Amino acid sequence: MEYLANRVLKMSESETLAMTRIARELKAQGKDIISLSIGEPDFNTPEEVKNYAKQAIDDNWTHYPPVPGYPELREAISKKFKRDNNLNYSPEQIIVSTGAKQSIYQVVMSLVNPDDEVIIPAPYWVSYKEIVKVAEGKCVFIKTTLENDFKVTPAQLEAAITNKTKLIMFSSPSNPTGMLYSKDELKGIADMLSRHKNVFVMADEIYEHINFQGKHESLAQFDKIKEQVITINGVAKGFAMTGWRLGYIGAPLAIAKACDKLQGQVTSATCSIAQRAAIKAMEMNPKTSKDIISMRNKFKERRDMMFHLLQEIPGVKTRLPQGAFYFFPEVNSYFGKKYDKYTINDSNDLTMYLLYEANVALVPGAAFGDDNCIRFSYATSNELLVEAIKRIKNALSKLQ
Ligand code: PMP
Ligand code: GLU
Repeated sequence: MEYLANRVLKMSESETLAMTRIARELKAQGKDIISLSIGEPDFNTPEEVKNYAKQAIDDNWTHYPPVPGYPELREAISKKFKRDNNLNYSPEQIIVSTGAKQSIYQVVMSLVNPDDEVIIPAPYWVSYKEIVKVAEGKCVFIKTTLENDFKVTPAQLEAAITNKTKLIMFSSPSNPTGMLYSKDELKGIADMLSRHKNVFVMADEIYEHINFQGKHESLAQFDKIKEQVITINGVAKGFAMTGWRLGYIGAPLAIAKACDKLQGQVTSATCSIAQRAAIKAMEMNPKTSKDIISMRNKFKERRDMMFHLLQEIPGVKTRLPQGAFYFFPEVNSYFGKKYDKYTINDSNDLTMYLLYEANVALVPGAAFGDDNCIRFSYATSNELLVEAIKRIKNALSKLQ
């Protein structure tokens, strides 16, 4: 093993994917596991998108596509940015990749030199910090609290900026907390950033369409920091297209070109058929698309049900998330308690206890940078959610 490169040895496995793998393995052994671990819509890809992809195969869209994506797709994304977010990204500023995860990876690799500092408000999505580690950057975490909806203030961000700061990374709607930054809050961040022209921000908006509050707000809308913002988005969450592996960025031209160069040496481009499918997805207007609206309404219904169910569990403290499909409640009131062979000292212990004693797979808050919490993905049926909470409530009641 020691022959493996340090960058891999030092890197952690994605804990969202690890919990999903364990849940799959236990299911294969015949265990009745309910998985609330992975953040993946349980809906199917809209019919019109699937039909367009089927036609693309018949029409032989089967050759290498251009590295940054088909011109028609980049044009469709450019129009989508204008239509939904009032952002002016020309097609040249848009790079299509194999999932938003690869988009994020390429942005970090294009910007971060060894020892550059990257500010990441915690809780954060698991892969941000591991990608920064691969780039040999230094993560600077800012702790946020449940009482403040896990949101960071411009003053907190500014206090963390040094002359080594290169990048800030955050998601809104947030994975794992489900919280949103309002237009005013984003404006506060933009005003602060306009005083720090060497600092870039990666605004991850992949949950844009799963917003129960109203209109999605993009950080890049504030012109004075437009040249500092990289907007991340993709089709996985809002269009139930996780397996198609397609994400994209809108970025200042030099950053887009750097990502294009990197991608040309790594994947050559994402799958041609997925790209054709994404053209259809981009044409779907979130204001009028029945598919997008009905998925969002279903998620909202589940969010409301989960909020109610979680509040009935003693010692579990939660806020009402405004977007995405996660709850991130505080569960530290169970730390220090025991049952049978289990002692619960942290969010990892509690997650394992709930996996084996309640047969429900969740993800420990420690993976997202907050060990007091645990993440529930509610992208599954109402019946399974009710059953999962019943099991969890029962298992937690045994802890003394
Ligand atoms: N950003 C966030 C906040 C996510 O939760 C995810 C998970 N899918 C991604 C990016 C990556 O998305 P994709 O599946 O398109 O790689
Ligand atoms: N983003 C999803 C999650 O947080 C999918 C898994 C992953 O890529 O991390 O569960």
